[in-house]
Amino acid sequence: MVKPTIILACIGLLLFSCSKKPEERPLETVVANPFFEEWETPFGVPPFEQIKEEHYMPTFHEGMKHQKLEIEAIVNNSDPPTFENTAEALDRTGDLLTKVKNVFNNLTSAHTNTELQKIEAEVKPLLAKHNDDINLNENLFRRIKAVYNQRETLNLNPEQSMLLEKTYKEFVRGGANLSEEKKARFREINEELSVLSVKFDKNVLDETNAFELVIEKEEDLAGLPQSVIAAASEAAKERGYEGKWVITLHKPSFIPFLQYSKKRNLREKVFKAFANLCNNDNEFDNKKIISRIAALRTERAQLLGHKTHADFILEENMAKNADEVYAFLEQIWKPALAKAKEEARELQAMIHKEGTDFKLQPWDWWFYAEKVKKAKYDLDDTTLRPYFKLENVRQGAFEVANKLWGITFHELEDMPKYHDDVKVLEVRDADGFHIGILYVDYFPRASKQGGAWMNAYRKQSHRNGKDIRPVIVNVGNFTKPTADTPSLISFDHALTLFHEFGHALHGLLSDCTYEKLSGTDVPRDFVELPSQIMENWASAPEVIKSYARHYETGEPIPDELLEKIKKSSHFNQGFGTVEYLASSFLDMDWHTLAEATEVDCTEFEITAMEKIGLIPEIIPRWRSTYFGHIFAGGYSSGYYSYIWAEVLDSDAFEAFKETSLFDKETAQSFRENILERGGTEDPMTLYLRFRGAKPKIEPLLKKRGLL
Ligand SMILES: [Zn+2]
Repeated sequence: MVKPTIILACIGLLLFSCSKKPEERPLETVVANPFFEEWETPFGVPPFEQIKEEHYMPTFHEGMKHQKLEIEAIVNNSDPPTFENTAEALDRTGDLLTKVKNVFNNLTSAHTNTELQKIEAEVKPLLAKHNDDINLNENLFRRIKAVYNQRETLNLNPEQSMLLEKTYKEFVRGGANLSEEKKARFREINEELSVLSVKFDKNVLDETNAFELVIEKEEDLAGLPQSVIAAASEAAKERGYEGKWVITLHKPSFIPFLQYSKKRNLREKVFKAFANLCNNDNEFDNKKIISRIAALRTERAQLLGHKTHADFILEENMAKNADEVYAFLEQIWKPALAKAKEEARELQAMIHKEGTDFKLQPWDWWFYAEKVKKAKYDLDDTTLRPYFKLENVRQGAFEVANKLWGITFHELEDMPKYHDDVKVLEVRDADGFHIGILYVDYFPRASKQGGAWMNAYRKQSHRNGKDIRPVIVNVGNFTKPTADTPSLISFDHALTLFHEFGHALHGLLSDCTYEKLSGTDVPRDFVELPSQIMENWASAPEVIKSYARHYETGEPIPDELLEKIKKSSHFNQGFGTVEYLASSFLDMDWHTLAEATEVDCTEFEITAMEKIGLIPEIIPRWRSTYFGHIFAGGYSSGYYSYIWAEVLDSDAFEAFKETSLFDKETAQSFRENILERGGTEDPMTLYLRFRGAKPKIEPLLKKRGLL
């Protein structure tokens, strides 16, 4: 996933320095607050060690104040509005705010604490209001509109045209055309939504951290591989249960537990705790928050003249409306559900074969899937993990990028960091040119949200003849090393690492003028193309062989195991596709509500799942109460994007298969037409330029064994 930066107007970072106008802010902040200084760190990365909690609020206030002054200057310009003095000028406001937001938003996801959570709750509504103040500034909109109306005669290049169009649309979508009365309501909605999404996220994090399954008796470890036991023992130590074992609701902890624990009652306990996150009618419950968010989103969409929130969101995407998304999902749902039912029968047969006769339940799926896999393909996760040492997988990803584009990665010591687990790398082009900085932060901790993502501390842009190079981060929740074993990750997590690295490349290789259009600032259903295409290399036999080496012997993964991976690649795809699609339908259902009234969350989800005929042995990958992508992140009406982009990435990867996996010309075309271009042109235009034809769905269905 990509963490979206929801910013109206942001560009560049270091060019504007508040120190030029010290008289505009309180004296004590001049000396002490690093956000008010030029960063003298290597490559201008954030000076994490110097940034303290107390620096954020004054900077947010000052940043907002400053952007207001900059906007006033645009509005009060006595010259007639032009592209340069209005659209471009607006794009170059708010540097200080961007500077603080980039650090703050990254840390509240990757390394938060109660103090940051408090600031977040305080600042999000202020930022929402600030954003509305800009979008609803009539005089500013009048100027933008004037430029927009003359766009045909302005001789703009494609990037400038896109900036103008995007800016104009943002104003319209931000309520600029509304009556005074409706504007007031629009503002109220945005403020309330910003409060609700922060609360939602906080509840998920807090309830995740509140759960622990403490195992006291050794017999309750039955079935668990040594690595899982060791990790559980470390987790126990961290939580003050020396000599015991703890399973948490972080995926690297509970998924292996579900795969291997022979204790069915404990599997049920852990599974239910996860499946009911924030659905326990306690202080962390998200049900009312969700109903309220959905109702407010519908109301806001309708204020803007759309029928539903999905219509409002999708007009900006490659898929243009809800019908198109539903039709697309249906196409995959039918074969996927049929496959999942077949898989359920196989798992049930395995249960019977073992002489037991209970009915397969969701907390059994992982466990018996592992057994069937072992029986059918003689393959299990524990045999594979020793070949997937985290550092080797990471190196494998770097080598793919090196072979495709000649870029190289150089680890830097003594760089500012926000946590000891973080590593910092400089990325250089084939000719030595400094491309950017990549932070990697791979291990779970209580201060981090679940999942994996890419984000930016500084985005690429060109300004005043200067090429501002990006600072990108990849965050994950992979298996932590223990006292005597390095981090050995699952093959799935190896794919995730490559995936996030693909997003990172999109951010790093960006070559755009405006920050607003650079890197991963592209339509939601296009953004997963650069990430997912990397997964194809991760699983290509010739690539795997180079990075999957036994962590003790250094032996490359044997052909026999590779053959097994290949043979089993369709295994459990019915389950994976169904649990994913179920969440996609759920997302679409929440956002196609035509009435702005609060509905009962539990009932709603039941109805949504009945409608598609989801089988009781599978639950959606994310149930509503912890579906952060859509209720706290930027994926509302957009969770379908992953599989939409899989159509693109499967089709795009065919271009390499048709030539060779490391074909220089194809790689260069992918770089120039996709990775460097950000959101400067319509995604389908970019895609056609690379591929010469529209993407076909067949390579995806084939890849998942659904054809
Ligand atoms: Zn992604």
